[in-house]
Amino acid sequence: MNVLLPRTVSEACEMLSRAEAPVPIAGGTDLFVHWPQKSQRRESTADSKMAFVDLSGLGELRAHRWTQKSLVLGALTTYWDLIQDPTIQAELPLLRSAARQVGAVQIQTRGTWAGNIMNASPAADGVAVLMAYDARLVLRSVRGTEELPLSDFYLGYKVMRRRPDQLLTEIHIPRERLDFQLFEKVGSRAAQAITKVGLAITRQENSWRVVTNSVAPTVCRCPALELFLASGSSVQRPEDFLEPVRSDISPIDDLRSSAEYRETVLTRLLYFGLKDECSSFA
Ligand SMILES: Cc1cc2nc3c(=O)[nH]c(=O)nc-3n(C[C@H](O)[C@H](O)[C@H](O)COP(=O)(O)OP(=O)(O)OC[C@H]3O[C@@H](n4cnc5c(N)ncnc54)[C@H](O)[C@@H]3O)c2cc1C
Repeated sequence: MNVLLPRTVSEACEMLSRAEAPVPIAGGTDLFVHWPQKSQRRESTADSKMAFVDLSGLGELRAHRWTQKSLVLGALTTYWDLIQDPTIQAELPLLRSAARQVGAVQIQTRGTWAGNIMNASPAADGVAVLMAYDARLVLRSVRGTEELPLSDFYLGYKVMRRRPDQLLTEIHIPRERLDFQLFEKVGSRAAQAITKVGLAITRQENSWRVVTNSVAPTVCRCPALELFLASGSSVQRPEDFLEPVRSDISPIDDLRSSAEYRETVLTRLLYFGLKDECSSFA
């Protein structure tokens, strides 16, 4: 196995550009889950050309910082780093709610927000709240720096707008006054559970962000629901959300739950989560 240990971000980008199949390692909480099987396969196939670029020595990527306009997370900022920052709860509380529900403390102290994004799981809880906060990604490579909205990053299941030589270095979250914020995670239990249905909502005046996880091939914004809420449509019961929900999501049956369950639960999360917020609700 080929493991590279860069000392600077520039050096890491050099390594990513030279390696045939580069794989950055942050906290390793996603990568190492299937490690034994994958490493056996690697030894015996062309995968042996893979180069693991261990980011742990890049102190410059660890800290998060507040600027006047945004919160900037480094690629090695963990859930725990944000849980410990009291300004997070005051200004961007959904980050804390999601962080507290990712795995348990062991995962929260190792797992990074960047790894959650780049693992591209449809169930990713961190991605849902970052998207609801209009987060932007900074991708760096030897060819330069690119910035794009997280909501445009996923193209399909595990398909991203990222070249293999690019490193996610920063996540920018705007500091805006929001009028409403909500995060809901439904799993089999409160901790150490993969999300069956997830929902993150923010509102600034009449501009809504509705983001769902575990109900489509990627974590995604829900444009039909956003329009429905902005239009002030009358809502008498959870089923009134069915039409926009069906237009936005494409849940599947799997070992954790059925598509029908996910759809039904989502309409209820929306109804009960927004009941006291929207005057158009019965
Ligand atoms: C027991 C357990 C419970 C979990 N519970 C949850 C949960 O409740 N909710 C949830 O959302 N997730 C959960 N996870 C998944 C995981 O912990 C998170 O997705 C975590 O944020 C991954 O971060 P990491 O730093 O460990 O990523 P890694 O495992 O280091 O990397 C993940 C992927 O991202 C790539 N990558 C990492 N950093 C970069 C970078 N800077 N640039 C480019 N690519 C990069 C890696 O190459 C890899 O493909 C759980 C995992 C375990 C093992």
